[in-house]
Amino acid sequence: MSNWWRGMVAGALVSGGVAAFVRRRVTAGTSARTRHRSETLFAYHAARHKILILGAGFGGMAAALRLDEQLGNRGDTSVLVVDRDSALLFTPLLWTVADGRADPNDVVVPIRAFQRGRSFHLLHANVEGIDLDRREVRTSAGIRAYDYLVVALGSVTAVPSLPGLRERALRFHTPADAIELRNHLIDALENAHHTVDARERREWLTFVVGGGGDTGVELAATIRDYLQVGLLAEYPWLVDERPRVVVVGRAQRLVPMSSPTTSSAVERILRDEGVEVWTDVAIEGVTERAIQTSRGTIPARTLFWAAGITAPPVVRDLPVEHARNGAVLVDETLRVPERPEVFVVGDSAWAFDGVSGEPAPPTAQAAGHMGEYVAEAIAGLIAGQQPTPFRFVTRGRLALLGHRTGVAEVFGHAFQGLPAWLLWHGYYLSAIPAWRNRIRLLTSWLLAGLTGRVTAQLRLGSSTGAEEISEAREPSQVAS
Ligand SMILES: Cc1cc2nc3c(=O)[nH]c(=O)nc-3n(C[C@H](O)[C@H](O)[C@H](O)COP(=O)(O)OP(=O)(O)OC[C@H]3O[C@@H](n4cnc5c(N)ncnc54)[C@H](O)[C@@H]3O)c2cc1C
Repeated sequence: MSNWWRGMVAGALVSGGVAAFVRRRVTAGTSARTRHRSETLFAYHAARHKILILGAGFGGMAAALRLDEQLGNRGDTSVLVVDRDSALLFTPLLWTVADGRADPNDVVVPIRAFQRGRSFHLLHANVEGIDLDRREVRTSAGIRAYDYLVVALGSVTAVPSLPGLRERALRFHTPADAIELRNHLIDALENAHHTVDARERREWLTFVVGGGGDTGVELAATIRDYLQVGLLAEYPWLVDERPRVVVVGRAQRLVPMSSPTTSSAVERILRDEGVEVWTDVAIEGVTERAIQTSRGTIPARTLFWAAGITAPPVVRDLPVEHARNGAVLVDETLRVPERPEVFVVGDSAWAFDGVSGEPAPPTAQAAGHMGEYVAEAIAGLIAGQQPTPFRFVTRGRLALLGHRTGVAEVFGHAFQGLPAWLLWHGYYLSAIPAWRNRIRLLTSWLLAGLTGRVTAQLRLGSSTGAEEISEAREPSQVAS
């Protein structure tokens, strides 16, 4: 084993182990806790304090776990969490699915695992509407009333209505998108391989990412990394053809929410990795063979869109004041003005630190803080105390920027290159709240390092339509 590998294994294990120890209080899934006891709908409605949490992502789960700590023993309180999915998607680790080092199952944690030994309840249903006047939520499993409501429904990628954009731009938000990214890159290389037209080949080998924020830069770096490291073994001609990856940002610098020093480091690392950086440039439209920008046209067949998020429709439809991206404008206690029983957290909220006035960023870290804060605020309200303003102090930022490189700002200290890459892996390995996932991820990453990354396409479409077609045909009609 080379020194580099020893360093990587030791670094990931040590940092993962130490941080996991600290975080054990929120660990779910493998602890020897007592079994969860279910509750009837009647019991929920009969509870004196009905707390309804919409969404079991970073914000919603943090609220449920902290409420359990604060109010778990109270017989007159019921906490119900509603989500359309049965698993928490740990988005920061999606990059390692897209770059062929991990499996989609490695980055999702079943939410029922969090219930063991805890008293909150789960309803697997779609949230269809919120009636603030009647204090009721309409779900696909019926209506649920509430005394306190926590809206934690996250966000979706915002795609503006520029010519061709909504039809052609690829998104990156889910495990299916991560698999689709791999599929798409392989399709593009195969198309480039068999075309005899040099211009068309360059188009297939050019990949544009719209958005110079955190997601955009990590997406561009992941594409570059998967092409250079993951697919090179199967497509050795890539060495001569040199695919082009371009990240296009509207702001004057990349990751504008970070410090100027971090922005410069991100730009330098991306350029070193072979990513072209276009800042202060707007994408204006996309056709089958080109991306139009304010700086000119890029001949390319692929555009990924990662320039902004918007609140989901059920949040945008709320008759309250919204920010431009549809998130709900909340007060310093994360409540909807004039609705003291309604809290909004995470990406669905447009929130500010109650003391500094700084905006809370749309990150998993901020969503978790907000979830914990509202849980304590609700527990306080039930005990007759008014909440103090919400405070958000970031622990730092981490970004994966390609092969064994990245940037990190942790408690005021900056790291770049391999140390940042190791920190990223160690931190997120510890942060995913289940030992099963940690072990699976570490094994997947090590295996990918030793035996190579996943380079097989995986089509996730259903076969239902195909069966109907083949049944409708007579055997004689089928070509041999
Ligand atoms: C690719 C990617 C990488 C990221 N990397 C990072 C990172 O490195 N660090 C970081 O801090 N942040 C990162 N983020 C941002 C982070 O994922 C979000 O800020 C965070 O998930 C917000 O938490 P939330 O609780 O508001 O929403 P979510 O965690 O998205 O949870 C929302 C929940 O609501 C449910 N839901 C939505 N609509 C409905 C409905 N109608 N009915 C029922 N249920 C519904 C969803 O199923 C989901 O479980 C990343 C995001 C992406 C897309």
